[in-house]
Amino acid sequence: MAIFGNLSDRLAETLANLRTKGKLTASDVDGTVREIRRALLEADVALPVVKDFTAHVRERALGDEVNRALNPAQQVVQIVNDELIRILGGQVRRIEFAKQPPTVIMLAGLQGAGKTTLAGKLAKQLRADRHAPLLVAADLQRPNAVQQLQVVGEQADTHVFAPEPGNGVGDPVRVAKDAVKFARDKQYDVVIIDTAGRLGVDAELMKQASNIRKATNPDEVLFVIDAMIGQDAVATAKAFQEGVDFTGVVLSKLDGDARGGAALSVAQVTGKPIMFASTGEGLDDFEVFHPDRMASRILD
Ligand code: GDP
Repeated sequence: MAIFGNLSDRLAETLANLRTKGKLTASDVDGTVREIRRALLEADVALPVVKDFTAHVRERALGDEVNRALNPAQQVVQIVNDELIRILGGQVRRIEFAKQPPTVIMLAGLQGAGKTTLAGKLAKQLRADRHAPLLVAADLQRPNAVQQLQVVGEQADTHVFAPEPGNGVGDPVRVAKDAVKFARDKQYDVVIIDTAGRLGVDAELMKQASNIRKATNPDEVLFVIDAMIGQDAVATAKAFQEGVDFTGVVLSKLDGDARGGAALSVAQVTGKPIMFASTGEGLDDFEVFHPDRMASRILD
Protein backbone atom coordinates (compact mmCIF):
# COMPACT_ATOMS: atom_id res chain seq x y z
CA MET A 1 0.00 0.00 0.00
CA ALA A 2 1.53 3.27 -1.16
CA ILE A 3 0.52 5.05 2.00
CA PHE A 4 2.83 2.90 4.08
CA GLY A 5 5.64 2.82 1.52
CA ASN A 6 8.32 4.59 3.53
CA LEU A 7 7.30 3.14 6.85
CA SER A 8 7.28 -0.36 5.38
CA ASP A 9 10.72 0.13 3.87
CA ARG A 10 12.15 1.49 7.10
CA LEU A 11 10.73 -1.28 9.23
CA ALA A 12 11.81 -3.93 6.73
CA GLU A 13 15.35 -2.59 6.82
CA THR A 14 15.45 -2.40 10.62
CA LEU A 15 14.09 -5.90 11.04
CA ALA A 16 16.39 -7.30 8.33
CA ASN A 17 19.39 -5.89 10.22
CA LEU A 18 18.12 -7.63 13.31
CA ARG A 19 17.83 -10.96 11.50
CA THR A 20 21.57 -11.04 10.91
CA LYS A 21 22.11 -11.46 14.64
CA GLY A 22 22.00 -14.74 16.54
CA LYS A 23 21.40 -14.16 20.22
CA LEU A 24 20.07 -10.69 20.89
CA THR A 25 21.66 -8.39 23.45
CA ALA A 26 19.81 -5.63 25.26
CA SER A 27 21.66 -3.15 23.11
CA ASP A 28 20.47 -4.89 19.90
CA VAL A 29 16.93 -4.56 21.19
CA ASP A 30 17.38 -0.92 22.13
CA GLY A 31 18.87 -0.10 18.75
CA THR A 32 15.97 -1.78 16.99
CA VAL A 33 13.38 -0.02 19.14
CA ARG A 34 15.05 3.32 18.46
CA GLU A 35 14.90 2.69 14.71
CA ILE A 36 11.23 1.69 14.94
CA ARG A 37 10.48 4.82 16.94
CA ARG A 38 12.14 7.01 14.34
CA ALA A 39 10.32 5.28 11.47
CA LEU A 40 6.93 5.74 13.16
CA LEU A 41 7.54 9.40 13.95
CA GLU A 42 8.60 10.06 10.37
CA ALA A 43 5.37 8.43 9.22
CA ASP A 44 3.47 11.04 11.31
CA VAL A 45 2.21 8.58 13.90
CA ALA A 46 1.12 10.50 17.01
CA LEU A 47 3.76 10.65 19.76
CA PRO A 48 1.70 8.97 22.53
CA VAL A 49 0.99 6.08 20.16
CA VAL A 50 4.66 5.79 19.24
CA LYS A 51 5.64 5.77 22.90
CA ASP A 52 3.11 3.15 23.81
CA PHE A 53 4.06 1.00 20.84
CA THR A 54 7.80 1.10 21.42
CA ALA A 55 7.43 0.56 25.18
CA HIS A 56 5.46 -2.61 24.53
CA VAL A 57 7.87 -3.87 21.89
CA ARG A 58 10.86 -3.16 24.09
CA GLU A 59 9.41 -4.83 27.16
CA ARG A 60 8.43 -7.95 25.29
CA ALA A 61 11.65 -8.09 23.24
CA LEU A 62 13.73 -8.06 26.42
CA GLY A 63 11.53 -10.68 28.03
CA ASP A 64 11.48 -14.45 28.18
CA GLU A 65 9.59 -15.15 24.99
CA VAL A 66 12.55 -13.86 22.98
CA ASN A 67 15.19 -15.49 25.19
CA ARG A 68 13.56 -18.85 24.79
CA ALA A 69 12.92 -18.51 21.07
CA LEU A 70 14.85 -20.65 18.59
CA ASN A 71 15.18 -17.61 16.41
CA PRO A 72 15.14 -14.52 18.62
CA ALA A 73 15.16 -12.03 15.76
CA GLN A 74 12.17 -13.72 14.17
CA GLN A 75 10.43 -13.53 17.53
CA VAL A 76 10.99 -9.77 17.66
CA VAL A 77 9.49 -9.45 14.17
CA GLN A 78 6.49 -11.36 15.47
CA ILE A 79 6.22 -9.00 18.44
CA VAL A 80 6.29 -5.95 16.16
CA ASN A 81 3.56 -7.58 14.08
CA ASP A 82 1.44 -8.33 17.18
CA GLU A 83 1.84 -4.80 18.50
CA LEU A 84 0.89 -3.29 15.14
CA ILE A 85 -2.29 -5.36 15.20
CA ARG A 86 -2.95 -4.17 18.74
CA ILE A 87 -2.62 -0.44 17.96
CA LEU A 88 -4.80 -0.94 14.88
CA GLY A 89 -7.56 -2.18 17.17
CA GLY A 90 -6.99 -5.93 17.37
CA GLN A 91 -10.23 -7.45 16.17
CA VAL A 92 -12.34 -6.94 13.08
CA ARG A 93 -15.45 -5.03 14.06
CA ARG A 94 -18.48 -5.20 11.75
CA ILE A 95 -21.68 -3.15 11.75
CA GLU A 96 -24.00 -4.05 14.57
CA PHE A 97 -27.49 -4.24 13.16
CA ALA A 98 -30.42 -3.22 15.32
CA LYS A 99 -32.64 -6.03 16.56
CA GLN A 100 -35.60 -3.90 15.57
CA PRO A 101 -35.01 -2.38 12.08
CA PRO A 102 -34.17 0.10 10.80
CA THR A 103 -30.52 0.15 11.77
CA VAL A 104 -29.41 3.77 11.75
CA ILE A 105 -25.85 4.60 10.64
CA MET A 106 -24.75 8.21 10.90
CA LEU A 107 -21.63 9.52 9.16
CA ALA A 108 -19.59 12.36 10.61
CA GLY A 109 -16.31 14.00 9.68
CA LEU A 110 -14.70 17.03 8.11
CA GLN A 111 -15.74 18.27 4.69
CA GLY A 112 -13.93 16.33 2.01
CA ALA A 113 -13.19 13.42 4.33
CA GLY A 114 -15.14 11.08 2.08
CA LYS A 115 -18.52 10.78 3.84
CA THR A 116 -20.76 11.06 0.79
CA THR A 117 -18.63 8.61 -1.14
CA LEU A 118 -18.67 6.26 1.83
CA ALA A 119 -22.46 6.51 2.04
CA GLY A 120 -22.64 5.18 -1.53
CA LYS A 121 -20.10 2.45 -0.83
CA LEU A 122 -21.97 1.27 2.23
CA ALA A 123 -25.30 1.34 0.39
CA LYS A 124 -23.92 -0.68 -2.49
CA GLN A 125 -22.39 -3.27 -0.18
CA LEU A 126 -25.55 -3.49 1.92
CA ARG A 127 -27.65 -4.07 -1.20
CA ALA A 128 -25.29 -6.83 -2.27
CA ASP A 129 -25.83 -8.33 1.19
CA ARG A 130 -29.61 -8.23 0.63
CA HIS A 131 -30.37 -5.28 2.85
CA ALA A 132 -32.68 -2.45 1.85
CA PRO A 133 -30.69 0.72 2.64
CA LEU A 134 -31.96 4.29 2.50
CA LEU A 135 -29.57 7.21 1.99
CA VAL A 136 -30.37 10.43 3.81
CA ALA A 137 -29.16 13.85 2.72
CA ALA A 138 -28.69 15.68 6.01
CA ASP A 139 -25.81 17.74 4.66
CA LEU A 140 -27.72 20.89 3.85
CA GLN A 141 -24.73 23.12 4.31
CA ARG A 142 -23.15 22.84 0.89
CA PRO A 143 -25.46 23.79 -1.99
CA ASN A 144 -24.69 20.72 -4.08
CA ALA A 145 -24.26 18.17 -1.32
CA VAL A 146 -27.80 16.81 -1.76
CA GLN A 147 -27.27 16.48 -5.49
CA GLN A 148 -23.93 14.75 -4.93
CA LEU A 149 -25.62 12.20 -2.71
CA GLN A 150 -28.31 11.71 -5.34
CA VAL A 151 -25.64 10.88 -7.92
CA VAL A 152 -24.07 8.40 -5.50
CA GLY A 153 -27.52 6.97 -4.74
CA GLU A 154 -28.12 6.33 -8.43
CA GLN A 155 -24.78 4.58 -8.75
CA ALA A 156 -25.60 2.42 -5.74
CA ASP A 157 -29.17 1.89 -6.95
CA THR A 158 -30.41 3.22 -3.61
CA HIS A 159 -33.21 5.65 -2.82
CA VAL A 160 -32.16 9.03 -1.39
CA PHE A 161 -34.32 10.77 1.18
CA ALA A 162 -33.84 14.51 0.77
CA PRO A 163 -35.73 17.67 1.63
CA GLU A 164 -38.06 18.86 -1.12
CA PRO A 165 -36.30 21.26 -3.50
CA GLY A 166 -37.33 24.86 -2.95
CA ASN A 167 -37.90 24.25 0.71
CA GLY A 168 -35.16 26.68 1.64
CA VAL A 169 -32.08 25.50 3.49
CA GLY A 170 -34.06 23.15 5.66
CA ASP A 171 -33.36 21.66 9.02
CA PRO A 172 -31.01 18.66 8.86
CA VAL A 173 -32.15 17.35 12.25
CA ARG A 174 -35.74 17.28 11.02
CA VAL A 175 -34.72 15.65 7.73
CA ALA A 176 -32.83 12.92 9.58
CA LYS A 177 -35.70 12.29 11.94
CA ASP A 178 -38.27 12.20 9.15
CA ALA A 179 -36.04 9.84 7.20
CA VAL A 180 -35.98 7.29 10.02
CA LYS A 181 -39.77 7.38 10.21
CA PHE A 182 -39.99 7.08 6.41
CA ALA A 183 -37.64 4.05 6.52
CA ARG A 184 -39.76 2.41 9.19
CA ASP A 185 -42.95 2.99 7.19
CA LYS A 186 -41.47 1.85 3.89
CA GLN A 187 -39.53 -1.11 5.27
CA TYR A 188 -36.03 0.10 4.58
CA ASP A 189 -33.89 -1.78 7.07
CA VAL A 190 -30.76 0.41 7.15
CA VAL A 191 -30.70 4.21 7.20
CA ILE A 192 -27.43 5.91 6.25
CA ILE A 193 -27.33 9.57 7.26
CA ASP A 194 -24.81 11.79 5.49
CA THR A 195 -24.09 14.89 7.58
CA ALA A 196 -22.37 18.20 6.88
CA GLY A 197 -18.70 18.83 7.56
CA ARG A 198 -16.56 21.96 7.55
CA LEU A 199 -12.97 22.23 6.50
CA GLY A 200 -12.00 22.67 10.11
CA VAL A 201 -13.65 21.58 13.33
CA ASP A 202 -16.58 23.94 13.91
CA ALA A 203 -18.66 24.29 17.08
CA GLU A 204 -21.97 24.98 15.35
CA LEU A 205 -21.64 22.05 13.02
CA MET A 206 -20.58 19.78 15.83
CA LYS A 207 -23.73 20.80 17.69
CA GLN A 208 -25.79 20.03 14.60
CA ALA A 209 -24.23 16.56 14.30
CA SER A 210 -24.80 16.01 17.99
CA ASN A 211 -28.46 17.03 17.59
CA ILE A 212 -28.88 14.65 14.65
CA ARG A 213 -27.44 11.96 16.84
CA LYS A 214 -29.83 12.72 19.68
CA ALA A 215 -32.83 12.87 17.34
CA THR A 216 -32.14 9.60 15.53
CA ASN A 217 -30.39 7.51 18.19
CA PRO A 218 -28.08 5.77 15.68
CA ASP A 219 -26.84 2.22 16.14
CA GLU A 220 -23.53 3.26 14.61
CA VAL A 221 -21.88 6.65 14.28
CA LEU A 222 -18.97 6.35 11.87
CA PHE A 223 -16.28 8.98 11.99
CA VAL A 224 -14.74 9.28 8.53
CA ILE A 225 -11.17 10.51 8.42
CA ASP A 226 -8.93 11.21 5.49
CA ALA A 227 -5.75 9.18 5.99
CA MET A 228 -3.82 11.99 4.28
CA ILE A 229 -4.59 14.40 7.13
CA GLY A 230 -1.30 13.57 8.87
CA GLN A 231 -0.56 15.09 12.26
CA ASP A 232 -4.03 16.71 12.45
CA ALA A 233 -5.62 13.28 12.73
CA VAL A 234 -5.46 13.09 16.49
CA ALA A 235 -6.88 16.56 17.23
CA THR A 236 -9.66 16.10 14.67
CA ALA A 237 -10.60 12.66 15.96
CA LYS A 238 -10.65 13.90 19.54
CA ALA A 239 -12.81 16.90 18.62
CA PHE A 240 -15.37 14.63 16.97
CA GLN A 241 -15.22 12.21 19.85
CA GLU A 242 -16.03 14.99 22.31
CA GLY A 243 -18.51 16.77 20.05
CA VAL A 244 -20.52 13.88 18.64
CA ASP A 245 -18.90 10.70 19.91
CA PHE A 246 -18.72 7.79 17.51
CA THR A 247 -18.80 4.02 17.57
CA GLY A 248 -16.25 3.38 14.84
CA VAL A 249 -13.74 4.94 12.48
CA VAL A 250 -13.54 4.77 8.70
CA LEU A 251 -10.19 5.55 7.11
CA SER A 252 -10.56 7.03 3.66
CA LYS A 253 -8.05 7.67 0.90
CA LEU A 254 -5.81 4.82 1.97
CA ASP A 255 -4.88 4.64 -1.71
CA GLY A 256 -3.03 7.95 -1.33
CA ASP A 257 0.66 8.37 -0.77
CA ALA A 258 0.68 10.25 2.51
CA ARG A 259 2.70 8.91 5.38
CA GLY A 260 0.06 6.78 7.02
CA GLY A 261 0.32 8.20 10.51
CA ALA A 262 -3.40 8.88 10.82
CA ALA A 263 -4.16 5.26 10.09
CA LEU A 264 -1.84 4.13 12.84
CA SER A 265 -2.95 6.69 15.42
CA VAL A 266 -6.74 6.95 15.47
CA ALA A 267 -7.78 3.61 16.89
CA GLN A 268 -5.40 3.94 19.80
CA VAL A 269 -6.09 7.60 20.66
CA THR A 270 -9.87 7.28 20.43
CA GLY A 271 -10.21 3.73 21.72
CA LYS A 272 -12.66 3.12 18.86
CA PRO A 273 -12.22 0.43 16.23
CA ILE A 274 -11.38 1.15 12.60
CA MET A 275 -14.27 -0.56 10.83
CA PHE A 276 -13.76 0.17 7.15
CA ALA A 277 -11.10 1.38 4.77
CA SER A 278 -11.81 3.39 1.64
CA THR A 279 -9.25 2.92 -1.09
CA GLY A 280 -10.47 4.95 -4.04
CA GLU A 281 -13.22 7.07 -5.55
CA GLY A 282 -15.21 4.18 -7.01
CA LEU A 283 -18.03 2.62 -4.99
CA ASP A 284 -16.25 -0.74 -4.93
CA ASP A 285 -13.03 0.72 -3.52
CA PHE A 286 -13.97 -0.16 0.00
CA GLU A 287 -13.23 -2.97 2.44
CA VAL A 288 -13.85 -4.18 5.95
CA PHE A 289 -10.79 -3.20 7.96
CA HIS A 290 -8.69 -6.15 9.14
CA PRO A 291 -6.03 -5.05 11.64
CA ASP A 292 -4.00 -8.21 11.05
CA ARG A 293 -3.97 -7.81 7.27
CA MET A 294 -3.02 -4.15 7.60
CA ALA A 295 -0.14 -5.08 9.91
CA SER A 296 1.06 -7.66 7.38
CA ARG A 297 0.88 -5.10 4.60
CA ILE A 298 3.00 -2.73 6.62
CA LEU A 299 5.58 -5.38 7.43
CA ASP A 300 5.65 -7.10 4.04
P1 GDP B 1 -17.44 14.55 2.11
O1 GDP B 1 -17.32 16.03 1.98
O2 GDP B 1 -16.94 14.06 3.44
O3 GDP B 1 -18.81 14.03 1.81
O4 GDP B 1 -16.42 13.91 1.05
P2 GDP B 1 -16.71 13.30 -0.39
O5 GDP B 1 -17.31 11.95 -0.28
O6 GDP B 1 -17.43 14.31 -1.22
O7 GDP B 1 -15.24 13.10 -0.92
C1 GDP B 1 -14.36 14.19 -1.18
C2 GDP B 1 -13.46 13.85 -2.37
O8 GDP B 1 -12.62 12.74 -2.04
C3 GDP B 1 -14.25 13.40 -3.59
O9 GDP B 1 -13.60 13.92 -4.74
C4 GDP B 1 -14.16 11.89 -3.57
O10 GDP B 1 -14.24 11.32 -4.86
C5 GDP B 1 -12.79 11.67 -2.97
N1 GDP B 1 -12.68 10.41 -2.23
C6 GDP B 1 -13.52 9.90 -1.27
N2 GDP B 1 -13.05 8.74 -0.79
C7 GDP B 1 -11.87 8.49 -1.43
C8 GDP B 1 -10.89 7.44 -1.35
O11 GDP B 1 -10.98 6.46 -0.59
N3 GDP B 1 -9.79 7.57 -2.17
C9 GDP B 1 -9.64 8.62 -3.01
N4 GDP B 1 -8.54 8.67 -3.77
N5 GDP B 1 -10.54 9.62 -3.11
C10 GDP B 1 -11.63 9.56 -2.34
